[in-house]
Amino acid sequence: MSRPTLDEACTKIVATVGPACESPEQIEELIEAGVDIFRINTAHGDRLQHETIVNRIREASAKCGFPVGILLDLAGPKIRLGQLTHEPLVCETGTKLTFVAEATNEPTDVTSTYPRLIEELQPGDRVLLADGTVSLLVESVTADRAECLVTGGGKIRSRQGINLPGVRLSVPALLERDIDNAIWAAQNDIDFISLSFVRSADDVLQLKTLIHSNGSSALVIAKIEKPEALDQIEDIVEMADGIMVARGDLGVEIDVAKTPVAQKRIIQVCRERMKPVIVATQMLESMHSSTRPTRAEASDVANAILDGADACMLSGETAIGDHPELAVNMMSRIMKCTEQEMMRDRNRTNQVNHRVHPVTSAVTQAATHVAETIDAKLIVIGTRSGNTAWVNSQSRSLIPTVGVSTSQSTLRRMNLLWGIKPLASQELEDTPQFIEHMCCWGHENINLQPNDHLVFVTGSGVLDKAHNMMVVHTVE
Ligand code: PGA
Ligand code: MN
Repeated sequence: MSRPTLDEACTKIVATVGPACESPEQIEELIEAGVDIFRINTAHGDRLQHETIVNRIREASAKCGFPVGILLDLAGPKIRLGQLTHEPLVCETGTKLTFVAEATNEPTDVTSTYPRLIEELQPGDRVLLADGTVSLLVESVTADRAECLVTGGGKIRSRQGINLPGVRLSVPALLERDIDNAIWAAQNDIDFISLSFVRSADDVLQLKTLIHSNGSSALVIAKIEKPEALDQIEDIVEMADGIMVARGDLGVEIDVAKTPVAQKRIIQVCRERMKPVIVATQMLESMHSSTRPTRAEASDVANAILDGADACMLSGETAIGDHPELAVNMMSRIMKCTEQEMMRDRNRTNQVNHRVHPVTSAVTQAATHVAETIDAKLIVIGTRSGNTAWVNSQSRSLIPTVGVSTSQSTLRRMNLLWGIKPLASQELEDTPQFIEHMCCWGHENINLQPNDHLVFVTGSGVLDKAHNMMVVHTVE
């Protein structure tokens, strides 16, 4: 079957490409399994590898007849350990580890990829290594040495990440390698470019400016993985074309206990500003080696959807895991089940009962939505029995609403309906006349002004017993 199929998940799947899934056949399999966007992580591989992958994805996309997207992920100002003299280095709690400017033969002397690290560290700063497994406290700093106490021991290896929660570094948002990769992406029609470790809206603007000046309209995704970014989340969301909740580094940079609420908050801001949002990292982590996810992981995917995420991402699960295709299948199945249940929930509240025709109920609710969106001055419900007004009342809109009827008993009974103001009229059958009549009433009674909107719910006469028409009338 060729994609898109009508029964596939609504929530989108982003899958990271890596050695476990990068053959042309594997890429095709993943597209068939439901991948919508492939992520190429520039923290790994070189230009030639990235080019090869892009070409394979495009060929597979053409072969499958599905327009899969490509996201190029820029490493950003991620600082890493340099080469260690001993591999791995076991750091015992209570011992010392020293950042040095130039490598020495001393095993506990370590270097970093950021030349100004020592200069910018201060006694009291916290440093985390290897995804937070080893924690350090800076004790003293000289021109070429920053001596740290190991406060949480563990093993470290060369090139592992260094996180500095709360330390303000002067490292630019885009390093030379990111600029080079971004220009390449711009010239090669890449669809999405994400930036790691975004700290401000200006970081995002820099990347946008760079790719626009290189003739690309790629969408820029800001990865939220630093506390500074959380502090300015509104501005960053406003500036970016999309957001990634990058929980891997976020959970190191802030207390991991705070990441679930941070996720909810980021998603909420994205929803308010109508920006797409991807939830990333460890979603089906145990499927690196297992054929089934844990219950907690299944819930994580479902909860991201319930939070309002547009997409969920697979990282190592597809890039280096044992079961890339199973992981995509599983994610897609969890999504579908969750979405179906969400819809059932919504329908339960929507179709309150069978007192009115389902068409009437749907049109009435849509009318309220439209009226609120355009800030209408008045909603007008033509109603014979009062039932349509009753349905409208359930949506608890604060837009003034009149229930217009020819029946006196209907008018009297509408006095029990929340928000509905009964109004007698003889002009219900002919819609243009009804509108005209209501405009006259509005001019006399509610100070209608030019450009005010009125939303009418009425019947076209096509469907017997149903209000099947909504008209938006703008006062001239
Ligand atoms: P990464 O970003 O995989 O590039 O580190 C995602 C994350 O930090 O969660
Ligand atoms: Mn990250």
